[in-house]
Amino acid sequence: MVIGIIGGGAAGMAAALAASESEQNQVVLLERQARVGRKLQATGNGRCNLTNLHALEGGYHGENPAFARYALAQFPPEAVLAWMRGLGLFTVAEDSGRVYPYSDQANSVVDVLRFALEKPNIQVKLGFEVTKVRKTPEGFRVESREESLMCEKLIIACGGLAGTKLGGGMSGYQLLRSLGHKCTRLRPALVQVKTNWPGVAALKGVRANCRAAICRDDEMVRESTGELQFTEYGLSGPVMFEISRDVCQGGGDWCCRLDFLPDVEEAELLMELRRRRSTPLPNSELFTGILHNRLGRVLTQTAGIALSGWIRELGEEELVQAAAAAKGFCVSLTEPLGMDSAQVTAGGILTGEFEETTMESRLVPGLYACGEVLDIDGDCGGYNLQWAWSSGRLAGRCAGRNEL
Ligand SMILES: Cc1cc2nc3c(=O)[nH]c(=O)nc-3n(C[C@H](O)[C@H](O)[C@H](O)COP(=O)(O)OP(=O)(O)OC[C@H]3O[C@@H](n4cnc5c(N)ncnc54)[C@H](O)[C@@H]3O)c2cc1C
Repeated sequence: MVIGIIGGGAAGMAAALAASESEQNQVVLLERQARVGRKLQATGNGRCNLTNLHALEGGYHGENPAFARYALAQFPPEAVLAWMRGLGLFTVAEDSGRVYPYSDQANSVVDVLRFALEKPNIQVKLGFEVTKVRKTPEGFRVESREESLMCEKLIIACGGLAGTKLGGGMSGYQLLRSLGHKCTRLRPALVQVKTNWPGVAALKGVRANCRAAICRDDEMVRESTGELQFTEYGLSGPVMFEISRDVCQGGGDWCCRLDFLPDVEEAELLMELRRRRSTPLPNSELFTGILHNRLGRVLTQTAGIALSGWIRELGEEELVQAAAAAKGFCVSLTEPLGMDSAQVTAGGILTGEFEETTMESRLVPGLYACGEVLDIDGDCGGYNLQWAWSSGRLAGRCAGRNEL
């Protein structure tokens, strides 16, 4: 049986390897880019956070996140690690449950998969951009601008719209729509959020461990603690990715309240600032030794204190304001950045139109979908690749069963 797979990303490669386990199957993996795993190579800041040991506990979204449960349970994080180990990859888990290749290089993950694809019953066709798919009595006719091929089963693993420069696009949604499937609203997720606060540019590149709370019209929507990163236009980093889902949607005034010293009581901080009144230091050093220098200066100014004066001359009220700024700094939020910058697409092909135990379409027998193209997205921390491996493997296994 010939099984066609469109998309040589994480899900498509997992599907190809699973489908090829039966030697009677001929697998044709079609990838439009010049190599497989292009996005995978850029994941985790080049380190590839390939799974999370807590992925079975939740952390998935979509109209029906429960759809993901079966695939995840069939191929959970521990099984992914054993599978990767079998392919020759050594991995290391952090206390948070995030798992990375031992080499700390995403390339290693791509390489072991690439080598594993070198099997007699897998044909990888690079530079093959599928533009059209048709269901025929014999199976599926898959066409690029230059050539076409036939397969009995077809798996669509084209990924989502996020990370456009790394291969993200509309293709998977369009192909599945052309076969009768519906798509929910697409929006960027795990993405930085813009602010109109002019001070942000001065903090570009600063990282801080903080408690961050997203508020809408002064009411807290979500909060978490972790690393925040200031960018030229706004706020980024794991903690923002965690709490900024659907931020700035549906009107209202949105802001992010930041506590830069979550483990220090405001009274303790105030005591330390008071102590500094006995030093000969200028105001620009008020937070030295406590926070990143640039951040300290911005907070000092926010408290209405000129950087040019002397700490010994500061009054009690000014110190109270400075401590309050460090413990509850509000940054207004305007909108998330676009799909270009997003790590994952929220929304996708309606999961209700697929069997969760096989990933097969309920509308078109013999058609399967997996990975980000479906309406499932995960939290930051390895959840999205885990979904790609689990759903890809399930689709490949089920498509590879020799039943027509
Ligand atoms: C910068 C960045 C960092 C990330 N870091 C992490 C991380 O550390 N951990 C994590 O869990 N997740 C991370 N993600 C998310 C994760 O990479 C994706 O969710 C995952 O790769 C989705 O897998 P996929 O196989 O469904 O899609 P993809 O990996 O996007 O693969 C789809 C493939 O299909 C190909 N394709 C598309 N259309 C066609 C067509 N018509 N014909 C032929 N080929 C086609 C594409 O070229 C692509 O190679 C990150 C994403 C980005 C953008």
